[in-house]
Amino acid sequence: MAVKCFHSFALHLLLATIVIGVVNSEYIEYNTAPRIVTEKINVHLVPHSHDDVGWLKTVDQYYVGANNSIRGACVENVIESVIASLLDDQNRKFIYVEMAFFQRWWRQQSNAKKVKVKKLVDSGQLEFINGGMCMHDEATPHYIDMIDQTTLGHQFIKSEFGQVPRVGWQIDPFGHSAAQAYLLGAELGFDSLFFARIDYQDRAKRLREKTLEVIWQGSKSLGSSSQIFTGIFPRHYDPPDGFTFEINDVSPPIQDDPSLFDYNVQERVNDFVAAALAQVNVTRTNHIMWLMGTDFRYQYAYSWYRQMDKFIHYVNKDGRLNVLYSTPSIYTDAKYAANESWPLKTDDFFPYADKPNAYWTGYFTSRPAFKRYVRDLSGYYLAARQLEFLRGRSSSGPTTDMLADALAIAQHHDAVSGTQRQHVAADYALRLSMGYLQAEKLVASSLSFLSASKSSPDKKNPDTKFQQCPLLNISYCPASEARLSSGKSLVVVVYNSLGWKREEVVRVPVSSENVIVKDASGKEVVSQILPLSDITLRIRKEYVKAYLGRSPKDTAKHVLAFIASVPPLGFSSYVISDTGRTGRGLSASYVTSGSLNQDVEVSQGNLKLLYSEEGVKMSRYLSTKNQVTAEQTYAYYIGSNGTDKDPQVQLCKRYNLVYFFIFISCFKPFSYTYKASGAYVFRPDGSRPIKSEGQAQAQLTVVRGPLFDEVHQEFNSWISQITRVYKGKDHAEIEFTVGPIPADDGNSKEVITKLTTTMKTNGTFYTDSNGRDFIKRVRDFRTDWDLQVYQPVAGNYYPINLGIYMQDKTSELSVLVDRAVGGSSLEDGQIELMLHRRMLHDDIRGVGEILNETVCLPDGCKGLTIRGKFYIQIDKPGDGARWRRTFGQEIYSPLLLAFTEQEGDHWINSHKTTFSALEPSYSLPNNVALLTLQELENGEVLLRLAHLFEVGEDSEYSVMTKVELKKLFNNKKISKVKETSLTGNQEKAEMEKRRLIWKVEGSAGEEVKRGEAVDEEELVVELAPMEIRTFLIRFDDHNEMVGEERATT
Ligand SMILES: [Zn+2]
Repeated sequence: MAVKCFHSFALHLLLATIVIGVVNSEYIEYNTAPRIVTEKINVHLVPHSHDDVGWLKTVDQYYVGANNSIRGACVENVIESVIASLLDDQNRKFIYVEMAFFQRWWRQQSNAKKVKVKKLVDSGQLEFINGGMCMHDEATPHYIDMIDQTTLGHQFIKSEFGQVPRVGWQIDPFGHSAAQAYLLGAELGFDSLFFARIDYQDRAKRLREKTLEVIWQGSKSLGSSSQIFTGIFPRHYDPPDGFTFEINDVSPPIQDDPSLFDYNVQERVNDFVAAALAQVNVTRTNHIMWLMGTDFRYQYAYSWYRQMDKFIHYVNKDGRLNVLYSTPSIYTDAKYAANESWPLKTDDFFPYADKPNAYWTGYFTSRPAFKRYVRDLSGYYLAARQLEFLRGRSSSGPTTDMLADALAIAQHHDAVSGTQRQHVAADYALRLSMGYLQAEKLVASSLSFLSASKSSPDKKNPDTKFQQCPLLNISYCPASEARLSSGKSLVVVVYNSLGWKREEVVRVPVSSENVIVKDASGKEVVSQILPLSDITLRIRKEYVKAYLGRSPKDTAKHVLAFIASVPPLGFSSYVISDTGRTGRGLSASYVTSGSLNQDVEVSQGNLKLLYSEEGVKMSRYLSTKNQVTAEQTYAYYIGSNGTDKDPQVQLCKRYNLVYFFIFISCFKPFSYTYKASGAYVFRPDGSRPIKSEGQAQAQLTVVRGPLFDEVHQEFNSWISQITRVYKGKDHAEIEFTVGPIPADDGNSKEVITKLTTTMKTNGTFYTDSNGRDFIKRVRDFRTDWDLQVYQPVAGNYYPINLGIYMQDKTSELSVLVDRAVGGSSLEDGQIELMLHRRMLHDDIRGVGEILNETVCLPDGCKGLTIRGKFYIQIDKPGDGARWRRTFGQEIYSPLLLAFTEQEGDHWINSHKTTFSALEPSYSLPNNVALLTLQELENGEVLLRLAHLFEVGEDSEYSVMTKVELKKLFNNKKISKVKETSLTGNQEKAEMEKRRLIWKVEGSAGEEVKRGEAVDEEELVVELAPMEIRTFLIRFDDHNEMVGEERATT
């Protein structure tokens, strides 16, 4: 043994002496000149850093490198060190993705530095791709939010660098949506889209069949015009094993100094070639991409570039492959040049599972209160921008900018997804609330401006101080609750941000039951007084204290409901006054307490509701013979704690293995939670129904009135609901209050509501893609591969933003939601929605914290209570789309209320009480929505119009439709209209010219008809089904005045 050792040592010494003796260490000029060699395998090295806009740390903590005990991550280091490395060598390249971070850095740079960086961008060394403020989630954001956050980033890139991003880069989101592919891809002018996370079974098949790269056609309606080249990474968004080079990474560097020990050039070149050839085996064409980077890498960029310089130099010298510094754009062009035909992909990539029992479908519902807050403010932002435009953007005054920024960041794939740590969730919410307060001021001043009459002495500085009530969902509104002193009344200005007239019930808490409502002409309108439920009083008290730090004056005891009629893009005013006379009040609302022992039936139109101890039965006659009944109930799943049924954990238990790999998965805290239900993963371990219990069991509060009937039901101490049916409407509205979910039994719970019918749905149901297109889902089935079912519940869950519906030969049942939730149809004729979840285990997907949301009050903390609504309608087959599309808009854009007090009739008599931005008698067609109306900083106005229907969805509305811009902008003269890409960063015609048209295997795809170019004289916009068109408009500056003068003559 000893002899052998000595021998080996001597040999090394001898070799070392020879090497050192012959070759001296000297300067090596690495040849990294970019080139593509068509006859060789080309390895595109794409240096990148995946910088989450908040996750374990807040966005600002990540940026400055604070709170590094959680995670050593400083994005400022990334950007600084990358730019220094790029300036050092013009062959190096880098892509940057998250504008929220880049903007933070850019603001603080000197002009001299900015000039240098602009040169890097111009030369393509530094390329912005994706280019939104963040890399948004794809399951839980609304498409309008996705457009808005991308627009914000694209506008920054355009204004500072004159650049237009070409590539979609959604590498980390947990599944991928059809709306992402076509709307946030093709419609932006992107030539390609790349990401990592797809179902592990799907990936295995695609690896085998070389179909990781496809042409994705995300829209049925827009067909081939919505196609985009899509590349799925073979593994993840990191480099092949052995090629990560952050300071603490363990990959062996190339040692090419012959005077030092461990010279390894050939060995490392061989490793490189082997890794590349492995990837070639699963990729079409002779171009492969290596993702050189991962989360928060390049904090010391030299450590990466030094190695990549050497690999490019030595591998190219070796000659078996060609390696180059590249970007996804260069890679895309190379793929295109190969002139290949690609397989076609339709629908989407949901749900995502990374392992047999790990479906990432829990996050569709995680943090439901935050999800609602984001959606609520999204609708508010839409309205606030309209009002900002209608008043005229003010450089000094409050703007919507802060809300825009907060909403943009909240779309990040660890924000609205609900997968961030608690302190980060609080940070997003704080930003939103600060943004809201700014926008609230803007809304108040715009309404004040618009309601000031022409004869008002100072129209530019109107006097009305409007108050608003963001906590109306818990019936908290100081403005409407205030006791009216004698002679005073309350004015409510009701703003409608939709392009059509609405008649809708408005609900405000009041302190007196003797109030009446009049319209601006003094005519009394139909109203109704309702009791506040005990649950509402409780959460109102607790949550006002928890979030506003004060106790509500305990005045509100009732809710006043009245019907408001509001013109499109405009407002109406109503006056609430106390009659001082008793006698009206609650009795007029016919409050009764029902008992479950007797039949309690409620009905206002075609829908009849019958109550039971589990829930409510809704039935509707669609014809004399055809009655459809849906029974609504609650239940909860017990979230798996990951301790059993898990082969990995069983293995760990059997063998007490302690080496490194097993340490990761067998270390006790991990092993117990390895495949638990958590912030991301939904893994149920049985379910329990919920039945009425305790005192509430037999009692119902039934309120009948002229506008609607409602029934209060309390199932147990933590689940209650109010069902409402409105006069003249066919749907039921269910307002649920869920929480605090009990956790004292040690079980994670995921609360669902279920609708059960006898419909024969043949395993089929439909869910929306980010609130836009509906996608057909078939239970236990995937279009792209033979699904092996291990999780029959979680594996059939899909994200829902607008709604879910099912059909059979005789009927159609639709459910619409007020925020992102997960849902499914697990049995024929059944639909379920997951409303809330309280987890007691982590699912080990990185967040490292248990999703157990609590609210803390002086007397302790308890689980979060959430409140929300969903809506149910039963129709004849084919009739549901109309309701889903138009009512869906009303859910997204609720009427906005602003309050002010008046003495006598003073305000009403001296102000403009109704207003519409549209020409009188004009309104948008029922199949069109105004997505954006916003005055930009440069005075241009961004207008987005959307067709709301898909091809074939509705017999009347799924057709080409028209919007007359002249009538949309009453009293304003349009001087120029320019059609642009969806984010307004390039002219549409140029974008179309530039975009690559890819070849698809098999059929060429049908020609799709879209709206014609807008004639500058006619100014009529055509919209084909599902088409969204974006315009930048300039108005004749003085025309508003001219218009008003003209109107008075
Ligand atoms: Zn991420």
